[in-house]
Amino acid sequence: YVDGGVSRNPANDELIATYPYQTSDDVERMLDANSAAFRMWRATPMSERVIVYRRLATVLRDRTERLASVITAEMGKPIVAARAEVEKCAATIDWIAANGPAILADEPVPVDANDQVHVSYLPIGSILAVMPWNFPLWQVVRASGPIMLSGNGFILKHAPNVMGAAYALEEAYEAAGFPKGLFANLNSDNATVAHVIEDSRVAAVTLTGSMRAGAAVASTAARALKKSLLELGGSDAFIVLADANIELAVEAAIHARFQNSGQVCLAAKRFILERPIADQFTRKFVEAARTLKIGDPTDTSTQIGPMARKDLRDELHDQVERSLAEGATLLLGGKKVPGAGNFYEPTVLGDVAPGMTAFDEETFGPVAAIAIADDLEHAIELANTSDYGLGGNLWTSDTERAQRIARRLDTGGVFINGFSASNPRIPVGGVKKSGYGRELSHFGLREFTNAQAVWIR
Ligand code: NDP
Repeated sequence: YVDGGVSRNPANDELIATYPYQTSDDVERMLDANSAAFRMWRATPMSERVIVYRRLATVLRDRTERLASVITAEMGKPIVAARAEVEKCAATIDWIAANGPAILADEPVPVDANDQVHVSYLPIGSILAVMPWNFPLWQVVRASGPIMLSGNGFILKHAPNVMGAAYALEEAYEAAGFPKGLFANLNSDNATVAHVIEDSRVAAVTLTGSMRAGAAVASTAARALKKSLLELGGSDAFIVLADANIELAVEAAIHARFQNSGQVCLAAKRFILERPIADQFTRKFVEAARTLKIGDPTDTSTQIGPMARKDLRDELHDQVERSLAEGATLLLGGKKVPGAGNFYEPTVLGDVAPGMTAFDEETFGPVAAIAIADDLEHAIELANTSDYGLGGNLWTSDTERAQRIARRLDTGGVFINGFSASNPRIPVGGVKKSGYGRELSHFGLREFTNAQAVWIR
């Protein structure tokens, strides 16, 4: 047992490294250094910040193999997907460097003829980011990219099983030329995280993770009168209407559910099928899921790696067993793969309905739940019957009707004839218990800024 982060290879259970928690002196020094770096960075002209951003994209690309192998070793993502994660980070940094300055530039506001008014988007200070392990680089870059361009400092409290990725990122930021300490790691227990949120050197907090973690962190922030942003996962519906292209819908559905071994907040989790095509879709979906190649994540042909932690696999299996006891039918999988590692068989549950675990709870692993809708109205009602409201997917050949339906779905995003994915150009975030606030796009770039009104008479 180690009081600190522990990296253990989820494909073979081998210990990779331990990262003992920082001492309280370490944390003090880190906070001081981050504040000092923030003061330097906020005084750095935007044109120079952009140069550092562009260098970061280059550093990330140059280190692709190193970073991807850390991701795969620590959380089990297939290596091809880990390399793609690094490239997505670099491409996002490029997009922010190219588009961020205009989004953060002073914005004139038309008022009375003789006065001049504008809004400036100013940094607010050091932002603490509590991040999860499922995309160890992407989640962090998605948060830090927009946050730091406006001149803020960034403190990363990463998940304890991916601290290798956290330190590799800190090194990459330093190599790119960010002021030393501006991107800092906090390696600590949750009590220390609460103290850091309360500390006057920290301005706000952003968290991606479970509802439980979100509620804890946001209530600490609220008591300290600090802003929080929460991205808490989802149970996205994947609605397939009777007029959809079934072949394409199945192909998208497989990717939407099983990528990253199903450990994705924006993954499709509840497949809501209009009755006339339900059997056909289900048959093809199960056939396709059966052929997914599960195994060694360092093998480039592997499609499904292990789950990130044993306790998460136990929890998922318990959700499957509860769903079956509640009346769901097992169409595929449903078992832990025996032997070393945290592998779980790609699983499909049929006859799922509200009130059953696989419908009501988020399933964070390779488990698809299929529910049948009598008609469109029923499909919309089922989709909205969820505590979550992150993304949604809708398949139909009538895209005009699809746009009307989208307005009735209580989610932060709707992907028509496709599947949910984050992109730097569009906001990501949810409604209901999926959280609040938006990351990426112009919303994300301005989320942690002081929109300062300046009125000149
Ligand atoms: P957690 O929400 O516990 O972990 C996410 C991050 O939050 C970690 O860095 C964790 O650190 C931190 N955290 C948790 N509790 C607190 C707290 N009280 N104060 C400060 N930080 C805290 O998720 P798990 O890894 O346990 O996964 C459980 C479930 O969460 C998944 O099955 C899934 O449903 C959901 N989840 C959603 C994600 C998403 O992308 N939205 C990503 C990951 C998980 P520490 O471990 O040190 O507590």
